Amino acid sequence: MKLNIEGLLVYFPYDYIYPEQYSYMLELKRTLDAKGHGVLEMPSGTGKTISLLSLIVAYQRAYPLEVTKLIYCSRTVPEIEKVVEELRKLMEYYSKEAGEKNNFLALALSSRKNLCVHPEVSSLRFGKEVDGKCHSLTASYIRAQRHSNPSLPSCRFYEEFDALGRQVPLPAGVYNLDDLKDFGRRKGWCPYYLARYSIVHANIIVYSYHYLLDPKIADLVSKELAKKSVVVFDEAHNIDNVCIDSMSVNITRRTLDRSQANVETLQSTILKIKETDAAKLKEEYRRLVEGLKEANVARETDIYMSNPVLPDEVLQEAVPGSIRTAEHFVGFMKRFLEYLKARLRIHHVVQESAPQFLKDISEKVCIDRKPLRFCAERLRSLLRTLEIADIADFSAITLISNFATLVSTYSKGTDPAGADGQRAISAWLYLCALLVPFLLWTYTPESWTSTRSPRRPSP
Ligand code: SF4
Repeated sequence: MKLNIEGLLVYFPYDYIYPEQYSYMLELKRTLDAKGHGVLEMPSGTGKTISLLSLIVAYQRAYPLEVTKLIYCSRTVPEIEKVVEELRKLMEYYSKEAGEKNNFLALALSSRKNLCVHPEVSSLRFGKEVDGKCHSLTASYIRAQRHSNPSLPSCRFYEEFDALGRQVPLPAGVYNLDDLKDFGRRKGWCPYYLARYSIVHANIIVYSYHYLLDPKIADLVSKELAKKSVVVFDEAHNIDNVCIDSMSVNITRRTLDRSQANVETLQSTILKIKETDAAKLKEEYRRLVEGLKEANVARETDIYMSNPVLPDEVLQEAVPGSIRTAEHFVGFMKRFLEYLKARLRIHHVVQESAPQFLKDISEKVCIDRKPLRFCAERLRSLLRTLEIADIADFSAITLISNFATLVSTYSKGTDPAGADGQRAISAWLYLCALLVPFLLWTYTPESWTSTRSPRRPSP
């Protein structure tokens, strides 16, 4: 069926259309014309996905310079796959009706767990394990070591992609996760890195909210996406929960114990390196003086879990002297862990704002805000310098360092609404001594406080 929506020719791949779908498209067209934001509500099962896709694709075709990309954010993998199937139907309809070969590139992007084709890595059960194992095969320093020791394991799919995958663009078409895996297997290229690379050129991307909303991931994946994009958040009522989840850190007593073990391992590795390759630590120190941007010139494969995003001006600064040498940083983390342990030795729930927390830590153990802010990036630099292959083993100390950076960087909360601050999000800490004592760092939209209580840890 072809429709004329206020002068826009829209291909709709079904024989019938509900009146609601028509008015939905009409409002959407007006929103795009106005280059504004829109909130559209429609009951589930009434065909909103295909209405959205039909209208936006028609708009993209009619005004290719105004809308260069559609970024469709969904929540779960089955929902992502459903959107891709609707898109496939629409593109087939275009080919059939318009009789032209469609040169649109549309693809889904998901985690390594859902896209890996390495026989052993892909059989691992948890996403973190897949990420960690992939990192141990593909990190730049591991690959560099392989020059002198070819017996070190590698991933042939990444090596092939690195050699050839960026030279040939992914052919036009619609790719769901299985299509990408099939394509990757045929070519011998890693589908995950191929998809991550191809989203920059794609006309339509379908991925999870996190790739756009979680600053820890968005900075890695979506930073280079075109400004002239239309962004759709499907089931947008989930946005606040996704934001809160992405900026929340749960720390239990077990996390602190594991972190302490991580710190001991780091300390012994530093001692070993000092005896065998002290120049490496000196070189890291030199780079940290230049600022973290210089210290972390990492390849795409080195970062399997990014750190909380630090503003650019902070990354340019020299790392504070108190955590610049590897040993000083390890000592600093030990002190921070002791402080957290002491805070968890309580018998009641405490709700505390980030500035209160920073004041307390400064008064009690003389830890200032600035070195805390650099913790996540400083740890990342150290793990790279020590050439630690299995980063998944260090997930506990990574979590603690992320917490340090978050609590000191976003002490007033975040403001996703922009400069007007209308939707400022405030940060809260909950310190509990329940069955499992833990500490929760979370952001809560202030506008909720009247309608919904901030999330509290349950006993
Ligand atoms: S590079 Fe790709 S195929 Fe190889 S282990 Fe990592 S995700 Fe799997």
